[in-house]
Amino acid sequence: MTCGKIDFACKRCRLSKGRTQVVPGVGSCKSAIVFIGEAPGKDEDLKGEPFVGRAGRLLTDVLKDAGVDRSEVFICNLVKCRPPGNRRPRKDEITACSSYLESELGTVKPTVVCALGQTVANHLLGNKMKMEELVKRERRVNLAGKEVRFFVAYHPAAILYQRKNLGIFTKSIRASLKAVKSK
Ligand code: URA
Repeated sequence: MTCGKIDFACKRCRLSKGRTQVVPGVGSCKSAIVFIGEAPGKDEDLKGEPFVGRAGRLLTDVLKDAGVDRSEVFICNLVKCRPPGNRRPRKDEITACSSYLESELGTVKPTVVCALGQTVANHLLGNKMKMEELVKRERRVNLAGKEVRFFVAYHPAAILYQRKNLGIFTKSIRASLKAVKSK
């Protein structure tokens, strides 16, 4: 089931030209926590679901180890279409797509948001901070008209290349999950 309004025939930006399909967020529309990634990759573009490739399996496993099934939470991306060659989404593409994320957040109404990676965190916070700083502390942020407890975790794809950060990644994910319970 899709949470929020997504136009599956969207042509608002150039990413529509290279995609197989639009990839909406998945999971529970009643989840108190939302994980936001950057953009669909190859596997996601083919399957129509976020985080189903190698990076997705890592995220799914870390959630599972924390006692949470991915179907219980809401997982989505900043942009809903795959950028060519998995490059970073550009500012105008993120802007063109922003109403979809807003609609998802406005529907799910999470109390906690966990941004996956620096691109997502920088965009949502409107800053240029580096990951080392971003992961250090929780923030209170207004997203889609609602204040949320905001956490940043390394992007799971970055962990596949830098296994040394797996511990920090796991810690950030667990801290965000704990914030749901402690309110
Ligand atoms: N990376 C992302 O940021 N999102 C996905 O859905 C998959 C990989």
